[in-house]
Amino acid sequence: MNIHEYQAKELFEKFGVATPKGKVAATAEEAGAAAREIGGTGLVVKAQVHAGGRGKGTFTNGFKGGVHVINTAEEAQEIAGKMLGQTLVTHQTGPEGKLVSKVLIAKSVDIAKEHYFAILFDRSTSRHAIIASTEGGMNIEEVAEKTPEKIIKEFVHPTLGLQAYQCRKIAAALGLRGALMTQAVKLFTALYKLYIQSDCSLVEVNPLAITTDNQVVALDAKFNFDDNALYRQKDIVTLRDTSEEDPREVAASEFGLSYIGLDGNIACLVNGAGLAMSTMDIIKFHGGEPANFLDVGGGASKDQVAAAFKIILGDPNVKGILVNIFGGIMDCNVIATGIIAAAQETGLSLPLVVRLEGNNVAAGKETLAQSGLAITGADDLTDAAQKIVAAVAAA
Ligand code: GDP
Ligand code: MN
Repeated sequence: MNIHEYQAKELFEKFGVATPKGKVAATAEEAGAAAREIGGTGLVVKAQVHAGGRGKGTFTNGFKGGVHVINTAEEAQEIAGKMLGQTLVTHQTGPEGKLVSKVLIAKSVDIAKEHYFAILFDRSTSRHAIIASTEGGMNIEEVAEKTPEKIIKEFVHPTLGLQAYQCRKIAAALGLRGALMTQAVKLFTALYKLYIQSDCSLVEVNPLAITTDNQVVALDAKFNFDDNALYRQKDIVTLRDTSEEDPREVAASEFGLSYIGLDGNIACLVNGAGLAMSTMDIIKFHGGEPANFLDVGGGASKDQVAAAFKIILGDPNVKGILVNIFGGIMDCNVIATGIIAAAQETGLSLPLVVRLEGNNVAAGKETLAQSGLAITGADDLTDAAQKIVAAVAAA
C-alpha cells in the first residue's frame, strides 16, 4: 500500500522527522486559504499522486511541472487551479498519467544541497537497508545506473536495529559535519523508527535537503507499506486512497483474491501463486500474452470464483480465459460450479479453456459438461495453453 506525500508529512511530524509545514487542498480556493494560513512568501505547490517524478512531469493540459515554488496566496490558488482535475504524466505514471485531486501547499525552503535517503527491505541480505547518496534530486535511477559508486549502502542488524554509529557513518559519507551531522543523525533515527513501527517496506526521501540556513529537512516522501502487516496497522489503512489503485486490484482485494493486471489479452484464473506464474509463462511460451496474474488461493469458495470471473471480464482487453486448477485442498467441483455461475451471470461469450486436475476432478468435469456452456476442456498445461492461444488468435 502507498500513501500521498501530505499524509507522509503527517507521519513525519508524529515521529519527529524534520519537514516543512504543509496543508492539503482539494480546490484552488482551499489552496489559496492554505497558503494564507501557512503565511509568508516562499511556498511550494505540489500535485499529490502516488508517483514520483512530479517535478519533471507534464499535465495533459500542457501545464508543465507538478512542483512549483511560488510567493503569494493568489499564485498558490492559480497554480492549484491548473493542476487540480488534470492528469499528470511522469516517468513513473506511465503514459496514461494520474489524476490530481489534491495538492499540497508547503513552506518552501532555500535549498543548498539535495541528497537522497531511503530505507527499504533488501531481500538478498534479508535486512533493512539504508540507501543514501549525495546525488539527490530528481534522477536517482540514473545515478544508480551510471555512477553506482555514488550510492551509499548500510545494512541494519535485525536485532540490534539501526545504530548511532551507522547514522554518523552515513551522514559523514554525505559530507555532513558538526550541527548538520547531529540533525541528520536525529532525522535518520526518527525515520527508521517510523519505518519499523509502521511496517513500511520503503521510505524514500528525495530530496533530503540541506537548506541555505543549515537545516536538514525531508522535502519529499514516498512510502510503501507491507500489505501483510496492514491487519495490525489500522491507522495506516485509513490513509489508503483506492482511487490511486488499479480498480481491478481493489475489487480483487475485497474478495481476498491476489490479482495483478497486465497488458495482454488472455486472462488466467489459477489456484496457487506458483501455478499462476507457470501458467503465465506457458501462455507466453505458446505465443500468447497474459492479461493478468490471478491466484484464487488454496480454498476458494464458489463466490470467490464468481467474483474472480467478473474482475477478469471487467478488463476490455480480455479476449479469452484460461482456468487452470490443480485441486489439492481445492475441490474441482466447487470451481466448476463457480465457473458456471459466473458464466451464466455475465453471459460469457469469450472462449474459455478449463484445465482441472486433482481432488474430485471427475465430478468437476461432469458438472462442466452438463452445463451446456461452450467450455473447452484441457488435460494438461501445454494442451490448455495451446488451445486458448489458438482460440484467441482465431477470434
Ligand atoms: P518529485 O519530482 O515527485 O520527486 O517531487 P519532489 O517533492 O522531490 O520535488 C521535485 C523537486 O522540486 C525537488 O528535487 C526540489 O528541487 C524541488 N522542490 C521541492 N520542494 C521545494 C522547496 O520547498 N523549495 C525549493 N526551492 N524547491 C523545492
Ligand atoms: Mn522527489
